[in-house]
Parts: sequence; structure tokens; C-alpha cells
Amino acid sequence: MITFNKPYFTGNEIIYIEQAVQSGKISGNGDFTKKCQSYFESTYGFGKCLLTSSCTDALEMAAILCDIQLGDEVIMPSYTFVSTANAFVLRGAKIVFADSYSDNPNIDADKIESLITEKTKAIVPVHYAGVACNMDKIMELANRYNLFVVEDAAQAIDSFYLNAKGEKKALGSIGHFAAFSFHETKNIISGEGGMLVVNESKYVARAEIIWEKGTNRSSFFRGEIDKYGWVDIGSSFLPSEITAAFLWAQFENIEQIQTRRLELWNHYYCELKVWAQNNQVHLPKIPEYATNNAHMFYLACPNLEFRNNLIEKLKKCNVLAVFHYQSLHKSPYFLINHNNRDLINSDYFTDCLVRLPLFFDLKNKYIDIIVNIITK
Ligand SMILES: *Cc1c(COP(=O)(O)O)cnc(C)c1O
Repeated sequence: MITFNKPYFTGNEIIYIEQAVQSGKISGNGDFTKKCQSYFESTYGFGKCLLTSSCTDALEMAAILCDIQLGDEVIMPSYTFVSTANAFVLRGAKIVFADSYSDNPNIDADKIESLITEKTKAIVPVHYAGVACNMDKIMELANRYNLFVVEDAAQAIDSFYLNAKGEKKALGSIGHFAAFSFHETKNIISGEGGMLVVNESKYVARAEIIWEKGTNRSSFFRGEIDKYGWVDIGSSFLPSEITAAFLWAQFENIEQIQTRRLELWNHYYCELKVWAQNNQVHLPKIPEYATNNAHMFYLACPNLEFRNNLIEKLKKCNVLAVFHYQSLHKSPYFLINHNNRDLINSDYFTDCLVRLPLFFDLKNKYIDIIVNIITK
């Protein structure tokens, strides 16, 4: 069986976890947490980084920081994971879904402006497959209409956006806030895990308070105040040191991980290019302003039947390929309070996208086997 995903272990995870245990402090915000956070801040030019227990948590923190109130509107793609929407729904927001591009699952930046109203508070671009959204356009709209931008960068570690000025910006460093995931299906993992990036310093103090259950405990530990207490809303968003220790071992190997994933991705691309062209199948498109972090290799099939047949054939040959994201605007929870709308491109990716196995330990020869099954 060729599985869809297999978590990669660098070998140092256990060593660092042991160190964390030996240190006698395994709750959150210890040495490994700080190491991970400052690594990120310095490597990618992020603002303040705070590790969280998941990307879902980081998105919830971002929604609190945007000060979302009942009835505020938040614009995001329909083709995304439920957490992108739930984080804002939990704060009382009304979600306004925008369509994807026809040739790329990311939010179509040209379709955002017509959705902005007096009540719009934030735009949440999702960098699908680690491929950048059109951030120049999105930031221009956000500045013009005074909106927050929260990047759902769950899949976008070590990926970049080339802006109109020719600068290369890490995804997650552009919006007011960004959320990353270290779930075991992502490039860099800790089982469950995530990180909030706060790119504007005026929100850092509040972010730390929300992170620490609504208390000013972080200031207390820095010796800035002599007792700590309940000063705001918040929750227990920080992960334990065991998770952070695991993550540190992964970061240390990020270059090796990314290089190998890219090799695998390019192998698929080269082998499938001609077949795809001849069969109305689309391979991932990387716009000129984006880089590829090889988070995912997917095919966009001509229709649902083609996609389902392909998954069946692969399954019969012991290869697990998967599809995902039912357009959120058509989900049962959303339809309780809203009418069904047509978002043609989002629905197209819902019906037609299939993800192929891609993980560090996958051998090139297995890609050849998968490609053979597909092209036959
Ligand atoms: C994985 C993912 C999430 C959720 O990440 P968790 O760490 O599992 O909470 C959110 N958004 C997108 C786009 C994702 O791919």
C-alpha cells in the first residue's frame, strides 16, 4: 500500500523531548517554545510569533485580535478548511464566501471588492497548497477599506510572495496576522501544532494575553509587573514544551525536508505534464508572483466522474489518493442560515481535485508506479 501521507521524523525529536523532560519544565512558553519562535521571526521576517496547539487555535486568536463583533463580515474563499470560517463564526461573524480562480484554488482577488460592505472587518486569504494569493491586490483593498488581513498560511511554511516592488516576502509576513499549521499532514510537523504571527507590534501585548488565558502572565514572567491577573478574554492556546521540542527537531531539518519534497513534486510534474495536457487535466499552477513549497501535488480533473474513477483505480492498485474541501458555502452548517449560491470555481475544485501521495520518505520509484497507473 502506498499511503497518502507518512509523517517524517528527523531522529532528533526524541532527544529534544527528553531534554525538555529533564529540564523539569514541560508546560508552555519554555526554552524550546522561545527557540522556535525566534527562529521563525529571524528566518522569515515575521513579526511576533506565538506557538499554538493548532492552526485552528491561531485563527481563533486572530479573530479575537481583529475584535470581531456580532454581525461583522469576513471575506474568505469557500474552498478551504472549516477552521478558516469557524474561528470567525465563534466570534459572531457572518462569513462572506468568495470564489476561487478558475485555474488555481486561491481566492480570486478581483472578486473581493464587490463583496465589501460597511460591516466588512477582515479578509482571510488562504494560501492553498502553499501557493501565494495575490497579496498586492488584497493588501491594497485592505488599506483602502481599512480591513484586517489574516493569512491562513496553514500550508504555506517556507513559501514566498514576490510583490510589485520586486521584494520577496515570506507568506505569513504580509497580513496583520497569519496562522500556520504543524499538523502531521503539513511540511513541518509536531503531530498537532500551529503558530500565530502578529505582524504589527501594537497587537503583540494583547496577543500574549489572549494566548495565556486572558492573563498578563507573560509580562509577569519577564518581571515587568509584580503580580498577574485576569485582564482580557483568552484561552489556553499555547502548546506544551514537549510539542515545541518536537517542532525544534523539525525546524533544524527544514532545508532537507523542503528540498526532498520539491524533488518529489517536480518528479510528478515532469512525468504527468504531457498526459495532463492530452486529457484536459490541470496540474498545479504557480503564478509568477508565487513560489512553490511543495506542500501538495494535486490534479484538477475534467469532472467528478473522472476524479472518482481515478481514485478508485489507484485504490485498486493500493495507492491512496484523496480529495478534500467540500465548498463551505454548500456545507450543511452554512446552509442552515444562508441560501445556496453558485461559486463555480470553488465547486469545480470540490468535484475535480485529487491529491496524490507526497511525503519525505516516498521513493521516486513509487511515483513512477503511481504515474503509470494514472496514465494507463
Ligand atoms: C490544516 C489546515 C488548517 C487547520 O490546521 P490545524 O493545525 O489542524 O488546526 C486550517 N486551514 C488550512 C488551509 C489547512 O490546510
